[in-house]
Amino acid sequence: MDEKIYEMPKVILHLHLDGSLRPETVRNWLKEEGKDLSLEEVKKELMVSKDCKNLNEYLTKFSIPEKVLQTSERIETATYELYEDLAKQNVMYAEVRFAPSKHLNKGLSYDEVVEAAIQGMENAKKDFNIDGNLILSCMRGKDNKSQNLETVKVAKKYLNKGVCGLDLAGAEALFNTENFEDIFKIAKGNNIPFTIHAGEAAGADSIKKAIDFGAKRIGHGIRCVESKELMQKIRIDGIVLEICPISNIQTQAVEGKHPLETLYRNRILTTINPDNNTVSNTNINKEYNWVMENTDLQYIDLMQMNINASRASFSTPQKKAELIQKILDYKNKEEKEEKTI
Ligand SMILES: [Zn+2]
Repeated sequence: MDEKIYEMPKVILHLHLDGSLRPETVRNWLKEEGKDLSLEEVKKELMVSKDCKNLNEYLTKFSIPEKVLQTSERIETATYELYEDLAKQNVMYAEVRFAPSKHLNKGLSYDEVVEAAIQGMENAKKDFNIDGNLILSCMRGKDNKSQNLETVKVAKKYLNKGVCGLDLAGAEALFNTENFEDIFKIAKGNNIPFTIHAGEAAGADSIKKAIDFGAKRIGHGIRCVESKELMQKIRIDGIVLEICPISNIQTQAVEGKHPLETLYRNRILTTINPDNNTVSNTNINKEYNWVMENTDLQYIDLMQMNINASRASFSTPQKKAELIQKILDYKNKEEKEEKTI
């Protein structure tokens, strides 16, 4: 493990709760339901294999998390444990997302799901040195408009009370971004900030639509490299890309070299994120290591991307300033140490 990467105070904008469950915890939950699997077997069910073909195959890894996360107690535990894990990785602020509509199978209401996740996060904030907010994901799919409308409603209710925004997740290649315009019109009308997964399994048009809807952040967005015009628009409008390198490689969203460095050098506001700690068998420090090993970007660029992430977070201006100050303090300390060597 690279010590400098570990020590760097980090900000995460893109991380899914259900894709980041501890395998040990899932194993216990399955046991309670009468399924006694070894830890290795559980890991195999939760983590994507090396020969994953696309995003649709990657998404099959969410079926067990969805099955087990159906009570308030478990949702609270999962959120608490994830923030505990992040604190141990020296993350100072994380926006964790999930889709409330996936956790209603055993009778929970939208409010109960969201309250359980907030409780888990707040408990972790008290116990560990970490801060954060939750993003509620609407889902791509057929005939699910009413669920997405409920998600917008619950986001509005808990906005600035643990929830900071909305998202659109799911199978991008199967359900076009343009079909979800109504949902984000309502979000915009209610001043709820949002990010949209786009330009991962579909191309530049999907990103263009998301920006037209009013998204200031794009989940992944890497396929903007397919259009010079779109890249220019993203740069000029200051749209922030939530890039998840290891996940992008697994879903085969990129062919050949990952465009992170090209985007960064073209002055597009990029940030580095883990997407799903468990499904992708990753964490933020592994992602930063990947950047150092596979690009010519340096520590200073990673710090810059943390500043980008702080500015683009859906938190308060005070919180953003505080996060940026911590990164600058760390940078100054590093520079001083280098001079004394
Ligand atoms: Zn994602």
